Amino acid sequence: MAIIRILDPSVVAKIRAGEVVDRPAAVAKELIENALDAGSRLIAIQSASNPDRSIRVQDDGSGMGREDALLAVRRHATSKLERAEDLDGIATLGFRGEALASIAEVSRLTLSTRAAEELTGTQVEILGGMVISVSGVGRAVGTTVSVEDLFFNTPARKRFLRSREAEVRALARVVWSYALVSPEVHWRFRVEGREDTELPTAADLLERWQVFYGRGSAESAAPFEHDGAGFRFRGVLGAPEMARANREQQIFAVNGRVIASSTMAAALRQGFGNLIPGDRHPVALVLIDIDPSQIDVNVHPTKREIRFRDESALFQATRRAVESAMRVYVPVALGVPPAGSMVPEEGSAGGGALVLEPGADPGHEAVAEGPPGYASGAGAAGHLFDASREVVAGSQWGRERVVTADVKESLTEIEVPIWQLHDRYLLAPIRGGLVIVDQHAAHERVLYEDARIHLCGESGPSQHLLFPRVLDLSPPELEELLSMEPLVRRLGYEVSLFGERQVAIRGVPAALAEETAIDALKRLLAGEETHGEITRDDPPEERIAKSWACHAAVRSGQPLDPVERRALFDRLFATSLPHGDPHGRPTYVRVPLEELDRRFGRR
Ligand code: ADP
Ligand code: MG
Repeated sequence: MAIIRILDPSVVAKIRAGEVVDRPAAVAKELIENALDAGSRLIAIQSASNPDRSIRVQDDGSGMGREDALLAVRRHATSKLERAEDLDGIATLGFRGEALASIAEVSRLTLSTRAAEELTGTQVEILGGMVISVSGVGRAVGTTVSVEDLFFNTPARKRFLRSREAEVRALARVVWSYALVSPEVHWRFRVEGREDTELPTAADLLERWQVFYGRGSAESAAPFEHDGAGFRFRGVLGAPEMARANREQQIFAVNGRVIASSTMAAALRQGFGNLIPGDRHPVALVLIDIDPSQIDVNVHPTKREIRFRDESALFQATRRAVESAMRVYVPVALGVPPAGSMVPEEGSAGGGALVLEPGADPGHEAVAEGPPGYASGAGAAGHLFDASREVVAGSQWGRERVVTADVKESLTEIEVPIWQLHDRYLLAPIRGGLVIVDQHAAHERVLYEDARIHLCGESGPSQHLLFPRVLDLSPPELEELLSMEPLVRRLGYEVSLFGERQVAIRGVPAALAEETAIDALKRLLAGEETHGEITRDDPPEERIAKSWACHAAVRSGQPLDPVERRALFDRLFATSLPHGDPHGRPTYVRVPLEELDRRFGRR
């Protein structure tokens, strides 16, 4: 009994036909998809060193009876689709009944197959679309398709092939992609003289991932599952340090089909937020299961791109899934009350004003990656962490402070320990390793971004001083102050001339302790050296932001209590560029467990 049918012409008309095979990799893709549709548990791909010479895909799937084998190689012959309505709910990878026919037309194709019910198998040989032999063969249940001399009768297409290396790479990418998304299948991949890989069935995506990227990378990777808005996500995200210069290592699959999707790529990138530099791309495997009626796979001849009914829902859902998975890389924002709950009462006394920045609730609008240092508080990572971005407020006692007493009370539960080392570095465990933050550099980055926002946008809040402070300034300092007065005011200082060489300070930036704020201003006016170079060519806003941030930041050598440590983490990772201080030196380093293991001779 034949299960393959020739499609009705009215159905054929609805199918987005076109060039299905343009290179050897496309042949492999079609044959692999057929093998997966046939429920195979073992798929072996073998290629000559020159893939257009020969590619063979062998599977242990359902196989075909004799009649089906003959139908299979005809155009529009498929067992996967019958009526046009079926196009709305396609659950198989194939459905057009075109692939085998298209391949057979431009090669020497041998199909050998046996269904479980049959005693012997069938072998069909086709040359340039003509059946040249049909015979019985003894063979195991399953199917083997071998494609030789691809494009032998279409020299024009053959000329379009790239170098042998490029074709092998493209072929390998197809195989690896499918192997990564289907760990339940045993894969075998051989390229003559190049490649000989055996991938036994793996328990899950992470186990398969580990074969590709190594054990250490699997330990630091973030496997995830996430349900939302009709999308079921599964996948693995590479640790931020694995990020690459291109998107080659991003694999997306929808209902088991490997696809290209610029929407998913953009959402993935945004989900990583500021954890990787702007010019890098995450390594990731993202699988989506979705009701087939919500997608249209019949839009592209090679089915490489599909259409989602709601592309923007796809974007949002993907970004959320990635964002929540990325939390394992930032040991903060756990148990932190939502931003709104920390709004102080007007004029609250005590340790100092609590500053809630505009954009403390960045919502979920799409946020572009801004240029360095210019992003607002609602920047890329604003939504990465629900933690409040509060709070650098002063204590009256003149010591630099990262948080105030009232914030401290609200941050009671500290779930992830953060250690301080030599009053200089902050250490915290993260997935797959350890992160070490330079406390001064980190705070500098935080203050620098605040300063940029205030110097170029909304002025920073000021904390009025009960007793104005009078400073004696040298003539050059006074001149400096006069020239930068409007900018200094934007930072939150309230300064007025007080006699010949004196100024009265009536208010300081609310984000700093009084002493720190005044000290930073003095150093700024004195043009005191900062840790990093500030060029005279920088525009004044940039110079002031950099130098003020450096003078005001918590110093190396200052003890921080656990809440301050975490607040610093929170704020650092909520900046637009947490990787470096304004002078370009790193603010944190990640130490993978793998490296420690290596040093201890464990690997
Ligand atoms: P489609 O996959 O779109 O149906 P193909 O030309 O790729 O079209 O295959 C035609 C038919 O041949 C399939 O519908 C299926 O019934 C059968 N077939 C192809 N490859 C295999 C295989 N590896 N195992 C079992 N059946 C197969
Ligand atoms: Mg097919």
